[in-house]
Amino acid sequence: MTKHPLILAHGGAGVRAMTRTQRACLAEALAAGYKLLHHGSPALDAIETTIKVLEASGLFNAGVGARLQLDGTRRMDASMMEGRELRAGAVAGIEQVRHPIAAARLVMDKTAHVLLVGAQATAFARHFKLDCQKQPTPAQRRAAIKALPHRDRLTVAQRHTLRLFERMEGRRTLTGEAGEARETVGAVALDQEGTVAAGASTGGIALMLPGRVGDTPLIGCGIYADNEAGAVSMTGLGESIIRIAVAKEIADCLAAGAGPASAARLVLAKVARRVAGAAGALVLARNGRFAITHNTPRIVAGYWDGTGKPVVRDKFK
Ligand code: ASP
Repeated sequence: MTKHPLILAHGGAGVRAMTRTQRACLAEALAAGYKLLHHGSPALDAIETTIKVLEASGLFNAGVGARLQLDGTRRMDASMMEGRELRAGAVAGIEQVRHPIAAARLVMDKTAHVLLVGAQATAFARHFKLDCQKQPTPAQRRAAIKALPHRDRLTVAQRHTLRLFERMEGRRTLTGEAGEARETVGAVALDQEGTVAAGASTGGIALMLPGRVGDTPLIGCGIYADNEAGAVSMTGLGESIIRIAVAKEIADCLAAGAGPASAARLVLAKVARRVAGAAGALVLARNGRFAITHNTPRIVAGYWDGTGKPVVRDKFK
């Protein structure tokens, strides 16, 4: 039986309010993905298209807007998964490409693997002639480091990371006042065939050691999709999300019969209780019911099922 398609997308969980341009971009991304679903395309194509719009915008921490690691290099992570045959593809620490989500899709479609990392992931993308982005100039690298929060505003863990990096490099890192307003992106969708898919793309977190990888490219942590349960895409501190394997845990709750809102609430409460973490989740059950849930002050997110206009907000219940 043909299902009524639906798509959800997020531009990250955190504390900052969404800007007008971010709202417009998210609505455009949802509309681009939904259009494909409406014409009968698979959920995977819809989420890839939606995430590409967000990666290309420079308004989020993904693709051309991705953060730099502490050595001034942009290393990005992305993943996608579909729920019919449980196919998945991901890249971690990939450099230079404009659309890491397209590289994740190629890993899924063209290889026998699930995850490629580092220089080899970048070479793989180059082999398939994926679009490149401009590399940050030395001045932009310096500006990005200065845009890190001032030392006094760092958490204890961040201060440790920074000190360790400085000892490894033998130099002091300049930190400034500005802070970062961009966050990770992700999407989940249900297509007319009843297949769900999930995807995510990120430049990681502030104050990352070179080589740090978060939850986003890890199947079962940052994303999961299974037609017997639903689709999940996460955002928040990867170090917390990985330790609970959040996306799979939410999917397991769905498979056991929980509704999307209670599944998300239950697992996010566990993230807070067990690892003192905060996160946001897009959760789409196989029957089309969905929830956008966060225990951060805000999540920039939205959804569209083709009726009215895409709904985009920065707070959900
Ligand atoms: N989960 C991402 C990471 O830890 C960051 C985020 O979602 O904001 O790399």
